[in-house]
Amino acid sequence: MNFHILTLFPEMVMNGLNTSIIGRAVQAGLLSIEAVNIRDYAFNKHQSVDDYPYGGGAGMLMQAEPVYLAYEALAERIRSRRAGARADFSSSDNTAEERRPRVVYLSPQGDVFCQSMAEELAKEEDLILLCGHYEGIDERVLEEIVTDYVSIGDYVLTGGELPAMVMVDAISRLVPGVLHNDVSAEFESFQDNLLEYPQYSRPEEWHGKKVPPVLLSGHHANIEKWRREQSIIRTYERRPDLLEKSALTDKEKKWLREWAGQNSGEKND
Ligand code: SAM
Repeated sequence: MNFHILTLFPEMVMNGLNTSIIGRAVQAGLLSIEAVNIRDYAFNKHQSVDDYPYGGGAGMLMQAEPVYLAYEALAERIRSRRAGARADFSSSDNTAEERRPRVVYLSPQGDVFCQSMAEELAKEEDLILLCGHYEGIDERVLEEIVTDYVSIGDYVLTGGELPAMVMVDAISRLVPGVLHNDVSAEFESFQDNLLEYPQYSRPEEWHGKKVPPVLLSGHHANIEKWRREQSIIRTYERRPDLLEKSALTDKEKKWLREWAGQNSGEKND
């Protein structure tokens, strides 16, 4: 999978994404990550990319033209790489349009990023992430090039670089081969709309707290059952909104009702 990040701060995203699991996946050729400096497409005397917003107001706005030129140059490179790679590539407008890479504008006004969105985006061959700065970007270029508006949460950051890094990280770990097979097959939070069960490592006792005995039993069916129950309890306690969307069996729903009845005092204590 190829990530293309349009930004005014390429060193920030590249430094942040060059380490650990993502850095190794890039080295192994499973991913490519490039940062395109929008300022390189500011063809004016001072290479400026921002200007005052019409109508007044505080702050500056990124101008449409440098963003558009940076995008066009990138899209052209992607088009020709794909054309070279695919013998059956047709340059008819329809085909080219169909294969136009998705362009995500990181924005506090977008759909909130979540695991299912990461799963969907991990299927793309190329993904363009557009990072705003200052007060954002001139609306007209967004209308022309953006396919998806994505937020990483209901708060306002100074730029789209950290959100882009968050997205690259979450999407990359879903690309086959990036995580070891045994790790990627493991249950993780948000799978089936449940949170992950608690986990423990050595020693068996720490600060007087013992590892739950079932985990030391070697009885795989019992361990699976305990983990599933713990996932359900944890989701009930921490993210009841998720639990509403999870596909619990009737037996599990009955079990949870009983568990909640027995433990309702504990929650309020
Ligand atoms: N004036 C904009 C507004 O009120 O919606 C906020 C602009 S913000 C200061 C500058 C840039 O940071 C945005 O263009 C966007 O790219 C990025 N950004 C800020 N908060 C974000 C969030 N929660 N999720 C994704 N991107 C965000």
